[in-house]
Amino acid sequence: ESSLIEVKNLKKYYEISQGLFKPKLVVKAVDDVSFSIKRGETFALVGESGCGKSTTGKTLLRLTDATSGEVRFKGEDILSLPYEKMRSLRKEMQMVFQDPYASLNPKMTIKQILMEPLRVHKKYSPEERMKKIVDILEIVGLSRSHLDRHPNEFSGGQRQRIGIARAVVLNPDFIIADEPVSALDVSVQSQVINLMLELQKEFGLTYLFISHDLSVVEHMTDRVAVMYLGKIVELADTEELFANPKHPYTQALISAVPVSHPKDVKERIVLKGDVPNPANPPSGCTFHTRCPFVMDKCKSVEPSLTEIGNGHMTSCHLYSKNKEENTNAIIYS
Ligand code: SF4
Ligand code: MG
Repeated sequence: ESSLIEVKNLKKYYEISQGLFKPKLVVKAVDDVSFSIKRGETFALVGESGCGKSTTGKTLLRLTDATSGEVRFKGEDILSLPYEKMRSLRKEMQMVFQDPYASLNPKMTIKQILMEPLRVHKKYSPEERMKKIVDILEIVGLSRSHLDRHPNEFSGGQRQRIGIARAVVLNPDFIIADEPVSALDVSVQSQVINLMLELQKEFGLTYLFISHDLSVVEHMTDRVAVMYLGKIVELADTEELFANPKHPYTQALISAVPVSHPKDVKERIVLKGDVPNPANPPSGCTFHTRCPFVMDKCKSVEPSLTEIGNGHMTSCHLYSKNKEENTNAIIYS
């Protein structure tokens, strides 16, 4: 299986001012994240708000600049591509946003919204363009009769269909969907998810699916990476992750999903406290302030993401083979 996109040691740090004469704080929004996504796969990034999952997604499309690291798309390191080359790659990488209300220009008609990407990226004749947008509208469950209407004349679900049509109209290979259904009524969510799955089959799409909603993630993704305070703490096949979560944070997240009952997590695990301030993360394992299994070592030694079998990776001292290995991990990482 070949990877469509490979992310290595990606970091996005930014500084926040605390006032004129105080030192700036560094927020490690994305802190040394690595993963790769296979062609045709749906890969999920999950975690609570502020964990860095959206920032990771935006960095992959260069909607925000990474601090360091590597993102290879079809083998090309896109973080160092010149603007013009990046622009031509953009048509192969599209984004579906969380809020279909905010992401569609209310002054534009549906026709204008769908024509725009075609104008920028393709050399179609006006007739070809028209045919293309009518085709795509029908594929997403709307029709030619909607072309001259504006976004505010549609329901939330229809607007997200339009947002998806806009992303797909250029025949991209890769789509990042950031909470694509979380602004929608529950009754509409599954329709939009099913549409995304159909489009994936029809066009051979690869998805990065960003979500805090684990029941949606369980239903539609192939592999999952769980993020906490800018880092991936667990990564596994979706089925394996839900059946056999290893990291205490993942166990807590999954235990809160009503329909999911992994065998070793019988009761809901309620974490103490809130997510710490990302500008001032805890030492050692950044989860140690909330972890039900915290040990002394966790407060000073940072665990590293390590494979525990079958591509299942986790970063937690509970699963490390020996003490020395952990010590090495912190010294050399
Ligand atoms: Fe909990 Fe320690 Fe594992 Fe961190 S390393 S998740 S604090 S047991
Ligand atoms: Mg977000």
